Amino acid sequence: MRFDLVTIFPDFFTSSFRYGILSRAVAAGQVQIATHDLRSFTHDRHRTVDDRPFGGGEGMVLKPEPIFDAVAALDIASKEHRDPTQETVILLSAQGKPFTQAVAQDLSKLKRIVLICGRYEGVDERINDLLCDREISIGDYVLSGGELAAAIIVDAVVRLLPGALGNPDSSRFESFGEIDVPDNQDPALGPPRSTHGSGGLLDYPHYTRPAEFHGRAVPQALSSGNHEIIRKWRRHMSLEKTLRNRPDLLAKAHLTKEDQEILRKLAPQNNLDD
Ligand code: SAM
Repeated sequence: MRFDLVTIFPDFFTSSFRYGILSRAVAAGQVQIATHDLRSFTHDRHRTVDDRPFGGGEGMVLKPEPIFDAVAALDIASKEHRDPTQETVILLSAQGKPFTQAVAQDLSKLKRIVLICGRYEGVDERINDLLCDREISIGDYVLSGGELAAAIIVDAVVRLLPGALGNPDSSRFESFGEIDVPDNQDPALGPPRSTHGSGGLLDYPHYTRPAEFHGRAVPQALSSGNHEIIRKWRRHMSLEKTLRNRPDLLAKAHLTKEDQEILRKLAPQNNLDD
């Protein structure tokens, strides 16, 4: 897989990809990440990348020509001829569709991803129209530039590539994991895995040594040695945390009868049957 990052601050990324899973994927040749300095695609003495907005108003806007030329130099098919199963051009934008784990899963199947990082008031909209297949926002807040958003997308996508994580199941059994993964209900299936199928819920809390820290003991269930007790505790906590922090996820989650029973006890007013 190859990422091309179009930016006015290529140095921004120098350390972002040097650690952990990402650096291993790059070292193994599984992922290539190239940055492209927009200023190299300008033709004036001041290497101008921005200009005042038509219609007046605040700030400056990234001019279309340098971005258009930067993407043209990337040897990627034009928007009309692009194969959406192989490659995509993305505009990072606070006005974009939300970036989610499902979008990261989609992107992880592609061979080539071009990320255009905006700055100032944003990018001339004709770049979106002419070059981009998707406009993506990483959250409901405004960043100073698209570089952080691009780094987040690269990270979330690369860890989903086959072999990128030591344990391939890790990305299936964590927060926002695959909706259809059935919970490992059957103790006969063996010891509890690092997590039980999240089925679209948030992950449960994790603990490690020491068993007691600042007067707080690790929950008894986790040191019980009983797989079924551990499974039940983890599932309960996953449901409890999702209900507390992200109740919106419950509507799409894979809920068993046991889950619904737990939720009814946690929040009796919720109707979770449908
Ligand atoms: N005027 C824009 C608006 O109100 O939507 C904000 C522009 S922002 C200061 C500059 C650049 O940061 C954007 O062009 C975009 O590339 C990036 N950016 C800001 N917030 C973002 C977000 N939530 N997700 C992705 N990119 C974002």
